[in-house]
Amino acid sequence: MSPGTGAFTVAIDGPAAAGKGTIARAVAMRFSLAHLDTGLLYRAVGRRALDGVDPVDAARTLTPSDLRHPELRLDTVGAEASRVAALPEVRAALLEFQRRFARREGGAVLDGRDIGTVICPGAEVKLFVTATDAVRARRRWKELHEAGQDVTEAHVLADLRARDARDSARALAPLRPAEDALHLDTSRMSIEEAVAAATDAVAAARG
Ligand code: C5P
Repeated sequence: MSPGTGAFTVAIDGPAAAGKGTIARAVAMRFSLAHLDTGLLYRAVGRRALDGVDPVDAARTLTPSDLRHPELRLDTVGAEASRVAALPEVRAALLEFQRRFARREGGAVLDGRDIGTVICPGAEVKLFVTATDAVRARRRWKELHEAGQDVTEAHVLADLRARDARDSARALAPLRPAEDALHLDTSRMSIEEAVAAATDAVAAARG
């Protein structure tokens, strides 16, 4: 396929704070692909659930403004997102939107937990991005700290572990690498190195 035409999907999965989002944004920019952070969909549902809305109703009626809500990055919203993400009806309600986005003309990068396994098993590139628990906790703590959230690193680590355990244990679309995913452990990599490794993989598939 010639660059820039037709559908071309890059699926990036992995646990929380492994670097998926940074890599996805950089790859999207480099290859002029659209980008969808699928975690935001679950966070938007989780946030509405915290407001008392039934999560299945929330998933079926999400609007673009729900995805721009300023509280989506709070750790309380992340925790609730992983609870509502275990509900089959919530996942079903969000499936079609993600698949359509993935196959859009011009290509797309999606990052999440089940992109390579469930949403786009036929993605042209699949990456599974990981890092040690300690490294991920440090990165997420820095992010939250810089955003003015008053949390300890130990709390962030416990939260990440709880979320990963829930995401990995759920019956439907658990967090796991696709069989043909390229594994990228970013624990000892700089952002530039991780982005370069991902970019090389996409460039090889682009041809
Ligand atoms: O990636 P992020 O941390 O924003 O995702 C929040 C939560 O949404 C995850 O912990 C996970 O439970 C859920 N999620 C999911 N499937 C995806 C993306 C996110 O279940 N594709």
